[in-house]
Formats: sequence, C-alpha cells, structure tokens
Amino acid sequence: MSDELKIKPEILEKVDYALPRKSWLDPAVHFRKGTYCYSAAPKNVEYLHMANPREWQPHDEDWKLPENWKEIVLNGIKERLTKYRSFQVFMDVCVRCGACADKCHFYIGSGDPKNMPVLRAELLRSIYRNNFTAAGKILGRLAGGRELTVDVIKEWFYYFYQCTECRRCSVFCPYGIDTAEITMMARELLNLLGLNINWALEPAANCFRTGNHLGIQPHTFKDTLEFFADEIEDITGVRVNVPINKKGAEILFVTPSGDYFADPGTFTCMGYLALFHELGLDYTWSAYASEGGNFGLFNSHDLIKSLNAKIYAEAKRLGVKWIMGGECGHMWRVIHQYMDTMNGPADFLSEPVSPITGTRFENARSSKMVHICEFTSDLIRHGKLKLDPSRNDRLRVTFHDSCNPARAMGFFEEPRYVLKSVCNNFFEMPANTIREQTYCCGGGAGLGTDENMEMRMRGGYPRANAVRYVRERHGVNRLGCICAIDRATLHSLMQYWVPEVEVTGIHELVANALVMKGEKEREVDMRGEPFNEKEDDSDV
Ligand code: SF4
Ligand code: SF4
Repeated sequence: MSDELKIKPEILEKVDYALPRKSWLDPAVHFRKGTYCYSAAPKNVEYLHMANPREWQPHDEDWKLPENWKEIVLNGIKERLTKYRSFQVFMDVCVRCGACADKCHFYIGSGDPKNMPVLRAELLRSIYRNNFTAAGKILGRLAGGRELTVDVIKEWFYYFYQCTECRRCSVFCPYGIDTAEITMMARELLNLLGLNINWALEPAANCFRTGNHLGIQPHTFKDTLEFFADEIEDITGVRVNVPINKKGAEILFVTPSGDYFADPGTFTCMGYLALFHELGLDYTWSAYASEGGNFGLFNSHDLIKSLNAKIYAEAKRLGVKWIMGGECGHMWRVIHQYMDTMNGPADFLSEPVSPITGTRFENARSSKMVHICEFTSDLIRHGKLKLDPSRNDRLRVTFHDSCNPARAMGFFEEPRYVLKSVCNNFFEMPANTIREQTYCCGGGAGLGTDENMEMRMRGGYPRANAVRYVRERHGVNRLGCICAIDRATLHSLMQYWVPEVEVTGIHELVANALVMKGEKEREVDMRGEPFNEKEDDSDV
C-alpha cells in the first residue's frame, strides 16, 4: 500500500452523504492531495504531438492555458457535436430522473454529489446549453446554463479524472446515456488545452516508443518470457517454448504488459505459456505489438486509433491467420466497440478457428480477435485439457467481472466456466455487484496511480465490500479477474479493505490445474506455493 494514504479504513468508510451548502453551479474545486492525479510530463505530451506541453500541476493557481483557451474548447465541443452523434444525443436527452445518481462507485465511496453520473455530465452539459442551445443562450442559468470559466475547466479536470469510464451508470439509465462517453469527450476537450494526467498519457507514449505501456525494451521482453519459461520448468519439469516475432505462425498472441511486468499478472502470463505449450499451438508473441491495452481510450479517439493500428500492422507483417488476446479489460472494449470501425475491416486475416477443436469463433468474424477465455472454455468443453482442480483446493475463489469485458462484451459465462472447471471452491458475490452490474476496481481509465490513492480506495469501496461479504460468509481468499489493470489495482484495494484476499488471473489457476504431458510430480503452484498448504483462516 502506498505511503500516500494515511487514513484508516474505519474512517474512510464513514461516508458523509449530506448535501453541500453551495450550489452545484459553483465550479470551485479544492485540489486536496490524495484525490487527484498529477499532470502529464511535458516529454510525453511532446512525444505524442499533443497540445501545450509545459510544466504545471493541478494544485498550481496558474495552469498556463493557451491565450485563446475558451475558443479552443467551444470549437472543440462544436466539432465533436457534429462528429459524434451520440455526444449530441447525450447532451440533449437526459431528463434528470436520477436513476443513475447512486450507481457510481465514486459517489458511493466519496458522498460528493458531483460524482453522481447525472451531475458529472451536467458539468459539461451546462456549458453546452449555455453556448449551443437557444434556451441556454437566452435564459442562461435559468435554463441550466453556465459560463465557461477557468474554474469550470479546473472542475472538469477534477471530476472527469474521477470517472473510470466503467459504464455502470449506463446500465441503469432509461435513455441509454453512457456517461463514460461524456467523460471521453470531456477528456478530449481537456487534452486540447494540454490538461492531461501522466498515468493515462505516459503508457500511450511508451507504447509507441518501445511497444508497450511500461516502456519495456524488446530484449527485456524476451528475457522476461524466458525467465518465466525457467520458472515453469522448475515447477513442472517441462520446458516450454517462447516464440517471439515468428513469421508465418498461425496465431498472434497479444496481452497487456502488466501480465509480464508485475505480480500477480506474471503468474497468469506463465499460465498462458504453459497452456500454449501443452497444446502445441502454432503461435507467436510480438516485441512490437507487446501491448494489448490501449490508453488511447482514456485520452482521445485519435490516440485509440493509432494504438490499435500497431496490432493489425504486426499481424499483417508476421502473416498470421488471426489474433488471440490475453486477460485484459479495456482492450476488449476497444476491440469490440471501436477497432473494427476505426482500423478495420481486417480482411487480410481469417475468421478465427481453433486449431485444437475446430470451433469457428463467429463472434470474431469481423475483428479477427478471440479472447483467451473463449479459447480456453472451448478447449475444456471439448475435453481437450487434462485438469486436476483439486490442486486449487486451498483456494476459495470469487470472480470480479471486469467492467469492460462484462459491459462492453457481455462476457459473463466463459470466465466462470473456466474457473469452475479448474477450482472446486467458487463463490459468487451478491447479484447487484457482478455481471453487468459489476463494480469498478476504482483505478481504471488511467487512474490507477498512487497520488490519488484516497480516491481509489473510496471508489473501490463498493467492490471491496462485496468481497468482504464472501470472505465473511465463505472464507474466500482469492479474487479472480480477467483484466491486467484489475490485477494491479485490486491488489492495493484488497490490502486496504480485505487484506486476507489475494488477487489472481484465471489462467494462473488453469496452469495450476493443468496436468502437462511429461510433467514431474508437481508440489507447488505457479507462485511456488505448496498445493496443499492451508491458508490462515483463523479470522473467518
Ligand atoms: S439515468 Fe439517464 S436520464 Fe436519468 S439522470 Fe441519469 S443520465 Fe439522465
Ligand atoms: S462511467 Fe462509471 S465512474 Fe463514470 S460516472 Fe458512470 S459509474 Fe461513475
């Protein structure tokens, strides 16, 4: 846990929901340490050829905006109203019914009304009304309009970087308003003024520099995968192959760099390697497309598009037939909701067919990308894997539906099917906290950094509370998920709220249960921990 957060959980969980005395129309924001993210370093802004690179911080009085900042923002709104029909609709159709008001984890965890989705959107909508509607132009405040001022820009920065674009609110909106899309528009507008956060921008810059978010160089990428092969050999006695940049392979495998950079993602990465080796899959990793995530989603549509292009360009260069993606969250929103229209159609690739079962993944006919949980669940369904779920018996597992695969793909069953096939002890969290109603980890959309730890722990509180529920009732000690950001942020969240629960990827548990051909008598799991060692359950 970061040193930044000194407040104890007993204090943080006492949320004050009393209405503030000042009107919501007052934009003044206090940038309190722990609740906001630091600005993007100028070198990253410059690297991405984005606007107004300079040294500044949100707590500074002077944000060093361009002289014509107001004109830039109003022109930016106008351009986007024309370009994105959904933006125009979302600005116009909200009836302020309030159905979304208490659905945002940041509102639940902070009690700040401006974290209600409806009010978050009003921060931008009020400027739209004032400048782009007849009623707003004539009646101003009476019609819910506000003047665009520097304080409004600062308020946007504070609250649109307190939205993880999780889309939980949209599930409850009778008009289908997607507040995440409004946040994306607001962040695009902020980017026009050079108002961006480092944790969202540096990964994008790194991705162009070295191939992945974490700035890992190709030789380190190779060494890391080789190191995992050594580990797997120590654990199983089987030496797995690590094909990189292999031209003519059938499948290109792309996963987020978090999987090969830090625990517990690394154990999931070892799971991929063990599984592919066991199947004798003709596949390859790529040192150029060594990132499945796409932080363009947290900055601008243009950035999404150029980052996407890397994956398809590499698939073309290597001459693969189709692409398989690892356990990532927002990667799958990008692929399913943007990639095909932005970068496709990928006609040079084939409709994915499993070389092991012959299953044709018709759902990926257009994107040509298959989620590894689809691939693995299909293998299990066809009896292609020899599994010993008792190896995971010391684990009592629950599953966190990662926001993007759940709400952008409707991806609920496959991960559960895999989990239940490789674990004997599986327990669901309460129904209103899973599947399409899942709660965010609190650190998505580029907010998973340390300086805003208080807000992350507040935003993650509803998810943590649901984990605590199954911990207390069923002794759950592992939280499974299929997202690299989740694996990183849920780790801190559990340490803070439910420290007895560790985080895991699904393919880590698959590899634990997988009985490999020629393996030695296995005694330890992918973490090197004994299969049968009892965890300390004294507090359950
Ligand atoms: S649920 Fe939809 S229509 Fe109702 S206040 Fe929220 S965004 Fe507006
Ligand atoms: S998208 Fe998620 S974080 Fe953003 S307002 Fe809606 S519920 Fe809150």
